[in-house]
Amino acid sequence: MAHRVSSLYVHVPFCIGKCGYCAFYSEPASDELVDRFLDALARELALVAPDLAPKSVYVGGGTPTVLGFHRLERLFRELGRVITPCAADELTVECNPATVTSAKARLLRSLGVTRASLGVQSLDDELLIRLGRPHSRRQAFDAYDALRGAGFDNVNIDLMFAIPGQTMEMWRRTLAEVKAMRPEHLSCYEITYEEDTPLFELMGAAESDANHELACAMYEELLDAAAAAGYIQYEVSNFALDAARSWGSAGAAAPAFATAAVLATPGVAERIPAYACKHNVNYWRGGEFFGLGPSAAGFVQGIHTANIADTRRYCALLEQGLRPIAFAELLPPLKRAAEVAAFGLRMVVGWSFEEFKSVTGYDLQKNGAKKLQNLSSAAGA
Ligand code: SF4
Repeated sequence: MAHRVSSLYVHVPFCIGKCGYCAFYSEPASDELVDRFLDALARELALVAPDLAPKSVYVGGGTPTVLGFHRLERLFRELGRVITPCAADELTVECNPATVTSAKARLLRSLGVTRASLGVQSLDDELLIRLGRPHSRRQAFDAYDALRGAGFDNVNIDLMFAIPGQTMEMWRRTLAEVKAMRPEHLSCYEITYEEDTPLFELMGAAESDANHELACAMYEELLDAAAAAGYIQYEVSNFALDAARSWGSAGAAAPAFATAAVLATPGVAERIPAYACKHNVNYWRGGEFFGLGPSAAGFVQGIHTANIADTRRYCALLEQGLRPIAFAELLPPLKRAAEVAAFGLRMVVGWSFEEFKSVTGYDLQKNGAKKLQNLSSAAGA
């Protein structure tokens, strides 16, 4: 491969239990299975290492922090063999409040993790129980304090709204408390009812429809509260603080994923806040990424892949020296361009003609109406 992929996602497929709404692949951890997984992940990393020079790494799942201290340390030492965490602009770890201790937070920081993403979801104990979350409101505050105490200066908080039973008053209270915590980044999603989850069985699509108006009002409330607190919305569900440095200002380091075309487009660079998640922005701008671990998705050289969503089979294939890929699809250029257009339009910056052309090869300034019609048909196909 002529160039090296600059983005890496690692899926740690273990959780304490299963949250009622969750459709991600995960299972309870046992020491034996975690050790086998870490061996397999090391093999998978070695297979892709020659094509990898990560600028952003995202360790998610699952719950990476469910691993005990020594296994967590081993995970990052394995990552460190093929990447130099210090050389990555952004190394994020997802943390569940039930599994973050001060010692683990300090360990993660000492191993080069630059960004912690804390899955709070709600600060209301009643709603946390309804969601089947394994932590309390108190644990969310304690985990946040542990991360800050360990020196994390770039923390995301995940929240959900339109949770069954959540009133506007509860949502306002949560937003006010999170505002007081002052994380650098907020990800706020409306709850979705995924098929084959206990919440779907319990509530069904009808409940989702009934709550539609309240969900819209909660989203409006979120936009107002985030803006009033100084957060800049840069994507439908994502908000970040801006630092003193501006990506568009003289002497400021450009983020690794920002293409020359973005920075050259007047008024665009300034609209992506400094604490935006670089890893996710790469997804939304149609960038390549390797996905390692059971069920992880990847996109390299125009091919979408998904790993096998079964930890034991994932391990068995790697033990035989094979990539554990369950699915691979080379998208036709038009379909790929439609996908890139749709993802990019989730961002407030949208697309400049120049950047869209550089990413997809489609020049919308020439015969644009016809091309847009084709893209829209391909997106719907
Ligand atoms: S902690 Fe996250 S990945 Fe694990 S079951 Fe809950 S929502 Fe899913």
